[in-house]
Amino acid sequence: DDSDGDKTGSAPAPGASGSGSAAAGGFAKDSVIGVSLPQKTSENWVLAENLFKTDLKAAGYKPNVQFANGGVSEQQNQISSMVTNGAKVIVIGAIDGSQLNTQIKQAHDAGAIVIAYDRLLLNTPNVDYYVAYDNFKVGELQGQALLDGMKAKKPNGPYNIELFAGSPDDANAKVFFDGAMKVLQPKIADGTVNVVSGQKSFNQAVTQGWKPENAQKRMDTLLSANYGGSKTIDGVLSPNDTLARAILTSTKSAGKPNPIVTGQDSEVESIKSIMAGVQYSTINKDTRNLVKQAVKMVGQLQAGQKVDVNDTKSYNNKVKIVPSFLLPPQIVTKANAKEAYANDPTLSKIVNAGG
Ligand code: BGC
Repeated sequence: DDSDGDKTGSAPAPGASGSGSAAAGGFAKDSVIGVSLPQKTSENWVLAENLFKTDLKAAGYKPNVQFANGGVSEQQNQISSMVTNGAKVIVIGAIDGSQLNTQIKQAHDAGAIVIAYDRLLLNTPNVDYYVAYDNFKVGELQGQALLDGMKAKKPNGPYNIELFAGSPDDANAKVFFDGAMKVLQPKIADGTVNVVSGQKSFNQAVTQGWKPENAQKRMDTLLSANYGGSKTIDGVLSPNDTLARAILTSTKSAGKPNPIVTGQDSEVESIKSIMAGVQYSTINKDTRNLVKQAVKMVGQLQAGQKVDVNDTKSYNNKVKIVPSFLLPPQIVTKANAKEAYANDPTLSKIVNAGG
């Protein structure tokens, strides 16, 4: 229930859309800052947990960083208790971007500022800022990498492919898919690319809960129903690394040569796979920079300053356009991995070891 009536958005964030009234001095430097993270469906969330704890503490705040591995109601309870504990800012990576409206209204009513982190909060006026890598761009890069990878292996089509999307409750999943389809759709339309199963819609492509076992099961089914005998599969659009590895496990156990498979997140196992020539691509969205930007926002709010945003048009949450700071994602294949991870000690060690 989010029947806010005309009280909605009654606690405008200082500096939001230049609407003045930036409370000078924002709030005390040693305030509680809540960070509510979703389930650990990829490595980036685990990295974020540690970085938020360290970076917020280093800046003088009292971080309250929580995971909601138990699901939506656990996340709802965690946010409520952050509000009760007097958090001045609550940073949220939502499991389901549409299910936190009551809690973030509570936060606003208590005077807290709400920042959507990585995943947008939907259907609510009570989200002040969004900080993320540009999700639509991620999708476009994935779509392009899929085409490039297939072409490099086999200069002329037509190419047989299948499409996977992320979890439908995650607001990002549709954005990634739409970005990729912007690139792939014209190639499907002109016959260069053939989605053999015919499953081309987002709803057909989704992977509930971002669970690798769900992607693997769907891939098994797609292969046995559509790729009998020696029929080849040239490529698979995968929205992230966890699912990419599951898809490759499936094609391998079906005895198919590895198709070109995209990914996202620069997970350790996928970087190894890319260096070994198995997974084709991933996306570099350095979690350190995203957390740094979120902590910078907190700092600007604390000081009562205007918050840095660089996009005020793209991310409409169906109630408002959320002022955003978007970071640029980068495509990574074996060819540019060395440069891409040059300043990441963990990943550059893997790349330099050749996987
Ligand atoms: C994130 C991706 C991640 C996925 C699953 C998305 O919202 O943007 O980086 O792979 O969630 O955890």
